[in-house]
Amino acid sequence: MTDTTLKHVVIAGGGTAGWMTAAAFSKLLGNNIKVTLIESDDIATVGVGEATIPPIKNFHKLLGINEQEVMKATHATFKLGINFENWGQVNDQYIHSFGVTGKECWAGEFHHFWLHGKQKGHHDEFGDYCFELQAAKQNKFALGHDRPINYAYHLDATLYAKYLRTFSEKLGTERIEGKISQVDKCMKTGNISAITLASGQTIAADFFIDCTGFRGVLIEQALHTGYEDWSHWLPCDSAVAVQTKSVSKPIPYTRSIAHDAGWQWQIPLQHRVGNGLVFCSKYLSDDEAKNLLLENIVGETITEPRVIKFKTGRRRKGWHKNCVAIGLSSGFIEPLESTSIHLIMTAIVRLLRLFPYNGVTPSAVDEYNNKLDSELNAVRDFIILHYKVNERADSKFWQHCQHMEVPPSLAHKIRLFKETGRVFLDDGDIFRVDSWTQVMLGQGLMPMQYHQIANIMNDDELTKFLTSLKSAISNAVSELPEHDDFIKQYCSSSA
Ligand code: FAD
Repeated sequence: MTDTTLKHVVIAGGGTAGWMTAAAFSKLLGNNIKVTLIESDDIATVGVGEATIPPIKNFHKLLGINEQEVMKATHATFKLGINFENWGQVNDQYIHSFGVTGKECWAGEFHHFWLHGKQKGHHDEFGDYCFELQAAKQNKFALGHDRPINYAYHLDATLYAKYLRTFSEKLGTERIEGKISQVDKCMKTGNISAITLASGQTIAADFFIDCTGFRGVLIEQALHTGYEDWSHWLPCDSAVAVQTKSVSKPIPYTRSIAHDAGWQWQIPLQHRVGNGLVFCSKYLSDDEAKNLLLENIVGETITEPRVIKFKTGRRRKGWHKNCVAIGLSSGFIEPLESTSIHLIMTAIVRLLRLFPYNGVTPSAVDEYNNKLDSELNAVRDFIILHYKVNERADSKFWQHCQHMEVPPSLAHKIRLFKETGRVFLDDGDIFRVDSWTQVMLGQGLMPMQYHQIANIMNDDELTKFLTSLKSAISNAVSELPEHDDFIKQYCSSSA
């Protein structure tokens, strides 16, 4: 009988995706499997990707990574959400926070009670009932207080990959430097059998993970898996990125500022800020984008503005033959809700759970790809929502987004919320009802009705309920230290 046991996994590419994969594989499968990572010093990583979402903490727990240590090493700050500016309309703003808003009742979510209150003359904003959102607004943060706080990180992407490289190499990952010049396939099965480097070195393995970024050296150039283009729904196709020195204390949230033909990010780290403009090249040239970004940043620039081109969409199959694509090689939805690093993490965990020790089976491949489909479709819809639901009449780009067709699954969600105030999650959705509600309301979509369960309270009870919730939050926030002070004592990278 032939031995089909997988003994050697090769990870191609050493950006965030490659080193996250190497870290997880060497930590969790290292006893059974040899892990090799190939990266080229001549091909730069994408070098952006610095805002995360809360489940990254689970990834670190799974790997036994100490939070303070990784935050120090990556000059990280805390992130409580994203402040969206000029999105619904020019001069509007709202925060999509990681927190729960209000208090849920078994039969209906808090926003129904808030909508009922609004009808009765209560003027408080939806966000007034969210602890994380209020803490963000007031630049406060702490761990270990009475109230749990849901957060993620802003981190330096290059330092994060470096940290994970040291972590992985200590656990036995072998790193080979070199440019992949050839990918050999088995004539009979079409599986990848080996990778050859420009130096002539050949590395054979049983299973390959493509983390080569947009190039997709294995999954596309060798296996021709195909790409599903989503640019008719997500028309931005370019970004320009530049780093600046900090001129003020870091805020505990990302800023996302809409401009005429795209949006600008500001990601505060401990000593510098990551800035960028995501834009649509149909409406703005690269030079115009660079100028627009440079006009809208503060602080001395410490890098040259760099343009990055992309096509929103996804690889048709995440797992094909004996190769799984993780990171940008598997597709790119767009950085608006900082979902890429999260998708790297879920891909790693899904692959670990389905890992084909005894050979690749079609059922495992299908399971992986089906779960990936639902996850990507849900993320895609959530991102398109931000573009579609806008009331801006001042630019052709925003008008185009307002009138564009959206996937039927999203059209249904928008209609359901507008007509009934209800939100139901689809399979694979990584965002909670709270996130959908905050963004839909924030973008200006006001439901025509609320769930009558909210009438369970009479006017006095409702007032008491809303007032006590709001004051409990504002008391709790007032007890928190400044975000910057907390960083200094918890994870300062200067210490
Ligand atoms: P890359 O960083 O491109 O790494 C590719 C690796 O493959 C490199 O090591 C390279 O040397 C190697 N390689 C390529 N070809 C070869 C070859 N022939 N031979 C040998 N080695 C090779 N994500 C978030 O979660 N949050 C964000 O805020 C965020 N912002 C973003 C903003 C922009 C504008 C963009 C474009 C992306 C953003 N992302 C964000 C996504 C995030 O940057 C990526 O998901 C993440 O960096 C992973 O990239 P990667 O490792 O797949 O690819």
